[in-house]
Amino acid sequence: MYGDGAESGHTFLFALNRRYIVDATVGGNAARWINHSCTPNCQAVIVHHADGNPRRDRIVIEALRDIAPGEELTYNYGIVLDVRHTTRLKKLWACHCGSPACTGTLLQPKY
Ligand SMILES: [Zn+2]
Repeated sequence: MYGDGAESGHTFLFALNRRYIVDATVGGNAARWINHSCTPNCQAVIVHHADGNPRRDRIVIEALRDIAPGEELTYNYGIVLDVRHTTRLKKLWACHCGSPACTGTLLQPKY
C-alpha cells in the first residue's frame, strides 16, 4: 500500500509490511529493475523473518511459470493508493506492459 504515490507514476519503493518500506534507490539490487505487468511471469512475496522482527522481513521474486532464457521478468506491483483512484491518477500510473489483458494502469482495484 502506497500513500499518495508521490505523484510520479514511478517508484522504487516497496511496502515490506505495515512498518517498513524498502527504498531500492538505497542499496537496492537488480530486482529494482523488474517492471510491472498485468500478466506477470513472477510474483513478489514477502517472507516474514522467523524472529518476528518486521525489519528483517524480505521480498523474494518467485516465478509463476517457466520462463524462457532472455524473457523479461515482470510482476504485478499491486499498487493501491490511500487516496481515490481518479482518472488522473490512473493516467499518472499508466501501464504500457503490452499485454492483451493490460488494464492501462498500475493501480489495482481496492478491495
Ligand atoms: Zn499493463
